[in-house]
Amino acid sequence: MRRSFGPTWCDGTVIKIGIDLGGTKIEVIALDAGGREILRHRVETPQGDYQETLHMIARLVEKAEADLGERGTVGIGTPGAISRATGLLKNSNSVCLNGQPVLQDIQTLLDRPVRISNDANCFALSEATDGAAAGARVVFGVIVGTGTGGGVVVDGKIITGPNAIAGEWGHNPLPWPRNDERPGPPCYCGQHGCIETFLSGPGMSGDHKMAAGNPLKPHDIVKRALSGDPSAEATLQRYEDRMARSLAHVINILDPDVIVLGGGMSNIDRLYESVPRLWGRYVFSDRVDTRLVAPRHGDSSGVRGAAWLWPAGTGTKDALKDEA
Ligand SMILES: [Zn+2]
Repeated sequence: MRRSFGPTWCDGTVIKIGIDLGGTKIEVIALDAGGREILRHRVETPQGDYQETLHMIARLVEKAEADLGERGTVGIGTPGAISRATGLLKNSNSVCLNGQPVLQDIQTLLDRPVRISNDANCFALSEATDGAAAGARVVFGVIVGTGTGGGVVVDGKIITGPNAIAGEWGHNPLPWPRNDERPGPPCYCGQHGCIETFLSGPGMSGDHKMAAGNPLKPHDIVKRALSGDPSAEATLQRYEDRMARSLAHVINILDPDVIVLGGGMSNIDRLYESVPRLWGRYVFSDRVDTRLVAPRHGDSSGVRGAAWLWPAGTGTKDALKDEA
């Protein structure tokens, strides 16, 4: 793609480079000041090798800048979080990164300030900045896929908190559990009946297998439900009610303007109608004006949000000089 040399070129802004550091792939994009994608590239993540992972990221940034002829800001989204207490990465599924001073090392390699955030936070930031929740004040972004993650963005800024876990609602227990939902499936976090064990893709498959006996992928359960299969329909209805209960808890605490769903389960179109219809009975309010919406940028939201860790105005050449 060609980059535009419009007025933004002249006012000191720089390109925004976003990196999505995942367990299997590393993706890089570059956005111009208007949020237009001007470069995208993806490589496999070096497996189990911390140093090689760092150098891969550095090479991707250097190549992007060579291709575009300009130095940019760099934001990185990754599972897990930088511990405020130690500065080390924790909770990442790329386990070779855990316990490492990722931010410090990458800043040294790239010789500039870098921002890192959790991938669900990046998703929420992307959708709040120029996605499905653009213009909303309080945004809760949820990733519901093989796992569940969440992020909170207020006035365009990610809320991190002292424990760097704001929005991580997937390991709260399923609210208002029925008798047959207790204690709930075991979770890798050590608890039982976490929201993730019900709302993740494997959670839906496991629930259907327990109720109907046959193992099916979420996609097939939804397809069967929509074509009139009663057991698949029952599974989907249980799922919808559980999502309504789980999000009602969030609404009671955070009262977001918009909740954006992401991840594989966000492709279930019916959720955007059924869940808001159901959550009213659980939310402590006479009416609920929170909107539940599908993501605008889909799978690209993580890497776009990483680029937006340097929001409009912070990426000017002068501001960068100050921060460095
Ligand atoms: Zn858990």
